[in-house]
Amino acid sequence: MWKVKTTQKEIYLTFDDGPIPTVTNFVLEELKKWNAQATFFCVGDNIQKHPNIYRQLLAQGHRIGNHTYHHQKGTKTPNQVYYQDIDDCQKLMATDNESPLFRPPYGKLRYRQLKQLSKKYRIVMWHIIAGDFLPKMTAKKCLRVLIRNTQKGSIIVLHDNQKTFSILKEVLPQYLAHFAQRGYQFKKLP
Ligand SMILES: [Zn+2]
Repeated sequence: MWKVKTTQKEIYLTFDDGPIPTVTNFVLEELKKWNAQATFFCVGDNIQKHPNIYRQLLAQGHRIGNHTYHHQKGTKTPNQVYYQDIDDCQKLMATDNESPLFRPPYGKLRYRQLKQLSKKYRIVMWHIIAGDFLPKMTAKKCLRVLIRNTQKGSIIVLHDNQKTFSILKEVLPQYLAHFAQRGYQFKKLP
């Protein structure tokens, strides 16, 4: 899935790599201000370390997706090890297992892994990746890329991790305000 098919003014924000203290809490507060829902692709190791923040994500009605236990790169990991890592994360999530979501770290997967994982998971990629993690990215540029490219049904990737927090802190409130004021709703993935 790269985009959600819709004619409505809907945006699908996704946050990868959390839950992380302070950063994820900040995201939750900002989303709440606009009554926005989002999808969090969590790393199992971080769920294990920060269970309280994880529970808050669920309590606030957001959707959770699997992002492996150790943030593994599929193309660099033997298939069985990779599947096990994803299973380990899934077990921790204790959330709806009916149509679980998975996003491969770094967006990298072998074709064989994609085929195998598609049996159980909906594989979620993105419509816009704003490069919040790139070394030379600035908040201003990141926001501009996001605003210019957002469409109805866009799936947006941001990161709730420590490395990107300085950018996220500036970008997220402005992005939410910009589109909320134009009648958009922020939804979790279907
Ligand atoms: Zn990631």
